[in-house]
Amino acid sequence: MNLILMGLPGAGKGTQAEKIVEKYQIPHISTGDMFRSAMKEGTDLGKKAQSFMDQGELVPDEVTIGIVRERLSKPDCQAGFLLDGFPRTIAQAEALEQLLAELATPLQYVLHVDVPKDKLIERLTGRRICPECGATYHVIFNPPKVEGICDHDGTALIQRDDDRPETVSKRLEVNAEQTQPLLDFYQDKGYLVTVDGDQDINVVFEEIDKQLQTLV
Ligand code: AMP
Repeated sequence: MNLILMGLPGAGKGTQAEKIVEKYQIPHISTGDMFRSAMKEGTDLGKKAQSFMDQGELVPDEVTIGIVRERLSKPDCQAGFLLDGFPRTIAQAEALEQLLAELATPLQYVLHVDVPKDKLIERLTGRRICPECGATYHVIFNPPKVEGICDHDGTALIQRDDDRPETVSKRLEVNAEQTQPLLDFYQDKGYLVTVDGDQDINVVFEEIDKQLQTLV
Protein backbone atom coordinates (compact mmCIF):
# COMPACT_ATOMS: atom_id res chain seq x y z
CA MET A 1 0.00 0.00 0.00
CA ASN A 2 1.91 3.05 -1.28
CA LEU A 3 0.36 6.26 -0.03
CA ILE A 4 0.92 9.99 0.32
CA LEU A 5 -1.00 11.91 2.95
CA MET A 6 -1.53 15.62 2.25
CA GLY A 7 -3.15 18.49 4.05
CA LEU A 8 -2.28 21.88 5.47
CA PRO A 9 -0.72 22.06 8.94
CA GLY A 10 -3.40 21.21 11.48
CA ALA A 11 -5.60 19.27 9.06
CA GLY A 12 -5.15 16.14 11.17
CA LYS A 13 -2.57 14.43 9.01
CA GLY A 14 -0.51 13.22 11.98
CA THR A 15 -3.54 11.73 13.73
CA GLN A 16 -4.80 10.00 10.59
CA ALA A 17 -1.28 8.78 9.79
CA GLU A 18 -1.10 7.04 13.18
CA LYS A 19 -4.39 5.26 12.50
CA ILE A 20 -3.44 4.23 8.97
CA VAL A 21 -0.04 2.79 9.89
CA GLU A 22 -1.47 1.00 12.91
CA LYS A 23 -4.20 -0.69 10.88
CA TYR A 24 -2.16 -1.45 7.76
CA GLN A 25 1.26 -1.97 9.35
CA ILE A 26 3.24 0.18 6.92
CA PRO A 27 6.04 2.58 7.88
CA HIS A 28 5.06 6.20 8.55
CA ILE A 29 7.60 8.38 6.78
CA SER A 30 7.32 11.97 7.97
CA THR A 31 10.07 14.23 6.66
CA GLY A 32 9.25 16.77 9.40
CA ASP A 33 9.78 14.09 12.09
CA MET A 34 12.99 12.95 10.39
CA PHE A 35 14.35 16.51 10.40
CA ARG A 36 13.29 17.09 14.00
CA SER A 37 14.98 13.93 15.23
CA ALA A 38 18.13 14.77 13.24
CA MET A 39 18.15 18.19 14.93
CA LYS A 40 17.69 16.59 18.35
CA GLU A 41 20.61 14.26 17.69
CA GLY A 42 22.72 17.12 16.31
CA THR A 43 23.62 15.27 13.07
CA ASP A 44 24.84 17.02 9.89
CA LEU A 45 21.36 16.65 8.44
CA GLY A 46 19.90 18.29 11.54
CA LYS A 47 22.32 21.19 11.26
CA LYS A 48 21.44 21.68 7.57
CA ALA A 49 17.69 21.65 8.31
CA GLN A 50 17.69 23.79 11.47
CA SER A 51 17.88 27.31 10.04
CA PHE A 52 15.14 26.62 7.48
CA MET A 53 12.81 24.99 9.98
CA ASP A 54 13.31 27.74 12.53
CA GLN A 55 12.11 30.26 9.95
CA GLY A 56 9.15 28.15 8.79
CA GLU A 57 10.81 27.71 5.38
CA LEU A 58 11.23 24.52 3.37
CA VAL A 59 14.48 22.61 3.64
CA PRO A 60 16.16 22.61 0.16
CA ASP A 61 14.88 19.93 -2.24
CA GLU A 62 18.20 18.14 -2.70
CA VAL A 63 18.52 17.55 1.05
CA THR A 64 14.90 16.42 1.42
CA ILE A 65 14.86 14.20 -1.66
CA GLY A 66 18.09 12.59 -0.46
CA ILE A 67 16.66 11.52 2.90
CA VAL A 68 13.44 10.21 1.32
CA ARG A 69 15.41 8.22 -1.26
CA GLU A 70 17.46 6.65 1.51
CA ARG A 71 14.38 5.84 3.61
CA LEU A 72 12.24 4.39 0.79
CA SER A 73 15.11 2.13 -0.22
CA LYS A 74 15.01 0.34 3.14
CA PRO A 75 13.53 -3.18 3.18
CA ASP A 76 10.57 -2.31 5.44
CA CYS A 77 9.14 -0.12 2.65
CA GLN A 78 8.69 -3.08 0.33
CA ALA A 79 5.30 -3.79 1.91
CA GLY A 80 4.29 -0.17 1.37
CA PHE A 81 4.67 3.22 3.01
CA LEU A 82 2.80 6.31 4.09
CA LEU A 83 4.55 9.54 3.13
CA ASP A 84 3.59 12.49 5.32
CA GLY A 85 4.92 15.98 4.62
CA PHE A 86 6.55 14.88 1.37
CA PRO A 87 6.40 15.86 -1.46
CA ARG A 88 6.06 19.59 -0.75
CA THR A 89 7.27 20.86 -4.17
CA ILE A 90 6.77 19.76 -7.78
CA ALA A 91 10.51 19.00 -7.97
CA GLN A 92 10.07 16.63 -5.01
CA ALA A 93 7.00 15.04 -6.64
CA GLU A 94 8.91 14.46 -9.85
CA ALA A 95 11.89 13.03 -7.98
CA LEU A 96 9.50 10.71 -6.14
CA GLU A 97 7.98 9.48 -9.43
CA GLN A 98 11.43 8.66 -10.69
CA LEU A 99 12.42 6.94 -7.45
CA LEU A 100 9.25 4.81 -7.35
CA ALA A 101 9.81 3.83 -10.98
CA GLU A 102 13.35 2.75 -10.08
CA LEU A 103 12.04 0.77 -7.12
CA ALA A 104 9.22 -0.66 -9.31
CA THR A 105 6.64 0.20 -6.67
CA PRO A 106 3.83 2.40 -7.98
CA LEU A 107 2.01 5.05 -5.99
CA GLN A 108 -1.62 4.17 -5.20
CA TYR A 109 -3.42 7.05 -3.51
CA VAL A 110 -2.72 10.63 -2.54
CA LEU A 111 -5.07 11.22 0.39
CA HIS A 112 -5.89 14.90 0.89
CA VAL A 113 -7.39 15.84 4.26
CA ASP A 114 -9.22 19.09 3.54
CA VAL A 115 -10.07 21.63 6.29
CA PRO A 116 -11.03 25.36 5.96
CA LYS A 117 -8.27 27.79 6.99
CA ASP A 118 -10.07 29.47 9.91
CA LYS A 119 -10.53 26.05 11.53
CA LEU A 120 -6.84 25.30 11.02
CA ILE A 121 -5.69 28.31 13.03
CA GLU A 122 -7.90 27.26 15.95
CA ARG A 123 -6.61 23.71 15.77
CA LEU A 124 -2.90 24.51 15.42
CA THR A 125 -2.52 26.75 18.40
CA GLY A 126 -4.12 24.05 20.63
CA ARG A 127 -1.95 21.20 19.37
CA ARG A 128 0.40 19.40 21.77
CA ILE A 129 2.84 16.62 20.96
CA CYS A 130 4.77 13.97 22.82
CA PRO A 131 8.49 14.72 22.41
CA GLU A 132 9.24 11.05 23.04
CA CYS A 133 6.92 9.10 20.68
CA GLY A 134 5.55 11.90 18.46
CA ALA A 135 1.86 11.27 19.32
CA THR A 136 -0.31 14.34 18.71
CA TYR A 137 -3.14 15.72 20.86
CA HIS A 138 -5.31 18.83 21.03
CA VAL A 139 -6.20 20.60 24.26
CA ILE A 140 -9.91 20.68 23.28
CA PHE A 141 -10.56 18.33 20.34
CA ASN A 142 -8.35 15.37 21.21
CA PRO A 143 -7.11 15.70 24.79
CA PRO A 144 -4.93 13.04 26.44
CA LYS A 145 -6.49 11.03 29.28
CA VAL A 146 -4.45 13.04 31.82
CA GLU A 147 -3.94 16.73 30.99
CA GLY A 148 -0.48 17.46 29.62
CA ILE A 149 0.67 13.80 29.70
CA CYS A 150 1.13 11.36 26.80
CA ASP A 151 -1.28 8.37 26.90
CA HIS A 152 1.35 6.05 25.42
CA ASP A 153 4.43 6.68 27.55
CA GLY A 154 3.58 9.20 30.31
CA THR A 155 5.90 11.89 28.91
CA ALA A 156 5.00 15.57 29.49
CA LEU A 157 3.50 17.01 26.29
CA ILE A 158 4.97 20.08 24.61
CA GLN A 159 3.87 22.72 22.11
CA ARG A 160 6.02 22.68 18.98
CA ASP A 161 7.75 26.01 18.38
CA ASP A 162 6.11 26.18 14.95
CA ASP A 163 2.62 25.77 16.50
CA ARG A 164 2.98 28.99 18.49
CA PRO A 165 0.58 31.74 17.40
CA GLU A 166 3.36 33.95 16.00
CA THR A 167 4.53 31.24 13.53
CA VAL A 168 1.19 29.67 12.61
CA SER A 169 -0.02 32.25 10.06
CA LYS A 170 3.28 32.22 8.21
CA ARG A 171 3.29 28.41 8.07
CA LEU A 172 -0.27 28.29 6.71
CA GLU A 173 0.43 30.94 4.10
CA VAL A 174 3.62 29.23 2.87
CA ASN A 175 1.98 25.82 2.88
CA ALA A 176 -1.25 26.82 1.10
CA GLU A 177 0.72 28.39 -1.74
CA GLN A 178 2.89 25.31 -2.07
CA THR A 179 0.19 22.67 -1.68
CA GLN A 180 -2.11 23.72 -4.51
CA PRO A 181 0.25 22.88 -7.40
CA LEU A 182 0.80 19.43 -5.86
CA LEU A 183 -2.93 18.80 -5.53
CA ASP A 184 -3.30 19.78 -9.20
CA PHE A 185 -0.36 17.55 -10.16
CA TYR A 186 -1.84 14.47 -8.48
CA GLN A 187 -5.40 15.29 -9.58
CA ASP A 188 -4.22 15.34 -13.19
CA LYS A 189 -2.55 11.97 -12.71
CA GLY A 190 -5.69 10.48 -11.12
CA TYR A 191 -4.20 9.70 -7.68
CA LEU A 192 -5.96 12.34 -5.61
CA VAL A 193 -8.66 11.42 -3.09
CA THR A 194 -10.02 14.38 -1.08
CA VAL A 195 -11.51 13.65 2.33
CA ASP A 196 -13.49 16.20 4.38
CA GLY A 197 -11.26 16.71 7.41
CA ASP A 198 -13.69 19.02 9.22
CA GLN A 199 -15.39 16.10 10.99
CA ASP A 200 -14.81 13.86 13.99
CA ILE A 201 -11.37 12.17 13.84
CA ASN A 202 -12.95 8.71 13.66
CA VAL A 203 -15.33 9.69 10.87
CA VAL A 204 -12.40 11.09 8.86
CA PHE A 205 -10.58 7.80 9.37
CA GLU A 206 -13.65 5.77 8.28
CA GLU A 207 -13.69 7.70 5.00
CA ILE A 208 -9.98 7.14 4.46
CA ASP A 209 -10.33 3.49 5.39
CA LYS A 210 -13.14 3.00 2.86
CA GLN A 211 -10.70 4.09 0.15
CA LEU A 212 -7.91 1.91 1.47
CA GLN A 213 -10.18 -1.15 1.55
CA THR A 214 -10.20 -0.99 -2.25
CA LEU A 215 -6.50 -1.88 -2.17
CA VAL A 216 -6.65 -4.99 0.06
P1 AMP B 1 6.13 19.31 9.23
O1 AMP B 1 6.28 18.62 10.53
O2 AMP B 1 5.77 18.39 8.10
O3 AMP B 1 5.25 20.53 9.29
O4 AMP B 1 7.59 19.86 8.86
C1 AMP B 1 8.26 20.78 9.67
C2 AMP B 1 9.34 21.49 8.88
O5 AMP B 1 10.26 20.53 8.33
C3 AMP B 1 8.85 22.27 7.67
O6 AMP B 1 8.40 23.55 8.01
C4 AMP B 1 10.11 22.31 6.81
O7 AMP B 1 11.03 23.26 7.30
C5 AMP B 1 10.69 20.93 7.04
N1 AMP B 1 10.16 19.96 6.04
C6 AMP B 1 9.38 18.87 6.30
N2 AMP B 1 9.08 18.21 5.17
C7 AMP B 1 9.67 18.90 4.16
C8 AMP B 1 9.72 18.72 2.74
N3 AMP B 1 9.08 17.72 2.11
N4 AMP B 1 10.44 19.62 2.03
C9 AMP B 1 11.09 20.63 2.61
N5 AMP B 1 11.06 20.87 3.93
C10 AMP B 1 10.36 20.01 4.71
